[in-house]
Amino acid sequence: MTFDRRGRHGFFIDGALREPTGSERVEVIHPGNEEAVGSIPKATPDDMAAAVAAARRAFDEGPWPHTAPAERAEMLSAIADGLEKRLEELAWLSTAQNGMPITLARQSQGIEILRYYADIARDVVWEERRQGLAGTGLVRRTPVGVAGLIIPWNAPSLLMNKLPSALLAGCTVVVKPSPETPLDTYVLAEVLDDVGMPPGVVNIVAADAEVGQCLVDDPRVDKISFTGSTAAGRKIMAGLAERIGRVSLELGGKSASVLLDDAPLEAALPATMAGACLNNGQACIALSRVLAPRSRYDEVVETLGAMVGSLPVGDPFDESTFVGPLLNARQRDRALGYIELGKAEGARVVTGGGPVPGRDRGFWVQPTVLADVSNDMRVAQEEIFAAVISVIPYDGGDDAAVAMANDSQYGLSGAVWSADPERALDVARRIRTGTVTVNGFTYDVGLPFGGFKQSGIGREWGLEGLEAYIEYQTINLPDGL
Ligand code: NAD
Repeated sequence: MTFDRRGRHGFFIDGALREPTGSERVEVIHPGNEEAVGSIPKATPDDMAAAVAAARRAFDEGPWPHTAPAERAEMLSAIADGLEKRLEELAWLSTAQNGMPITLARQSQGIEILRYYADIARDVVWEERRQGLAGTGLVRRTPVGVAGLIIPWNAPSLLMNKLPSALLAGCTVVVKPSPETPLDTYVLAEVLDDVGMPPGVVNIVAADAEVGQCLVDDPRVDKISFTGSTAAGRKIMAGLAERIGRVSLELGGKSASVLLDDAPLEAALPATMAGACLNNGQACIALSRVLAPRSRYDEVVETLGAMVGSLPVGDPFDESTFVGPLLNARQRDRALGYIELGKAEGARVVTGGGPVPGRDRGFWVQPTVLADVSNDMRVAQEEIFAAVISVIPYDGGDDAAVAMANDSQYGLSGAVWSADPERALDVARRIRTGTVTVNGFTYDVGLPFGGFKQSGIGREWGLEGLEAYIEYQTINLPDGL
């Protein structure tokens, strides 16, 4: 199969690809070898304004917010079917754009999320009569309005964490993908066209942060759902405060894999490694801190170091690759900078620690294990966004492990390991993080996902993910109605 590497034209606005208002273009670069894999127009504030206008019109005047939820669910299923037919192309585009290993790219299109929300539509109570203190009310789940969905570059499924629930709720949307990874959303636009999505319900303008800010600042937008860095999330939230704009934030993480002193290392270390190196380490849920009891520290460091050192690193299109390149020179330099910082702070490089030998083109960093890290070092506190694992010893039993796991500005993900699952569950309950797995590293779109602390606000997935796009309306009813 060969795929289109040529440029894409226009932006998907009001149901069709519209001419861009500017004349500049942006090249999309494959991070494995720095070759161009496509290009798109460079978006301007006018393009974004046109997309917002279309979404606003579709919400205020179009059929979508008033369509029966069952019909909206049918549309989600049709989109899922359309994307599924083009899965290989979508996976290829994902790998081409951001270097995600191809096996992961096939699993990361988020098609199951569309199906999940299509399925739960019938279980949602969209409107119910409820007895209050003084009388009867009709309590309604109505759409929040026009939603701006701002997506980072690290995984296509991050759009599907937002789009299906927003559409099921009855919102109209403006999707803003990163300019580094826009090409897959042109396939989505074709699928939306094929399935007959009403014009203006979904509009897509891949744009940089500056034009993205125009989406945030536009008073016609009721809600922003953002995934990306905590720094950008903070700025977006501040911008929305002015007009009390609704906001959901999925931000960074520095999640801990907590090994209790009886942890089954033969299961814990491979899963921790997979969780830390997932998507080349460019995952908000990455298990980038490993907390090990002092009594087993040397064993953990040695075993994990050997495992990470033998991970298949290479061409992300190769089916056997587990770790590919980082997105761009900025992300590579950032990761290498953190490794140097760790060394300066007193950490020891057990494996990796530099660029991948023999890879002159592209943005390559070896998967790295740092030992002798203490939890107050910057490499233990800041999100590196690469396959760089800090192994941190703790003394003093489970209480000390809990305190260390919680000693973070973040609280997104995590794992707790013990031969006694009840004991691990007890520890898991005390960890201030949005998702934590007992004896595993699991993510389930049927259950809510999101961050504590500076990892974000709000939840995606599950019924809670739908709530993010719902505004409750209460209609007080007169007697007899
Ligand atoms: P970023 O947060 O700057 O950008 C993410 C997305 O938000 C992009 O689409 C970007 O164009 C957009 N954006 C940024 N600022 C915006 C603004 N003010 N208004 C509207 N849109 C805006 O992330 P980045 O620069 O691509 O990466 C930097 C760091 O962010 C990474 O190293 C990593 O630590 C973190 N990151 C986290 C996640 C995550 O899933 N939690 C994803 C991507 C990046």
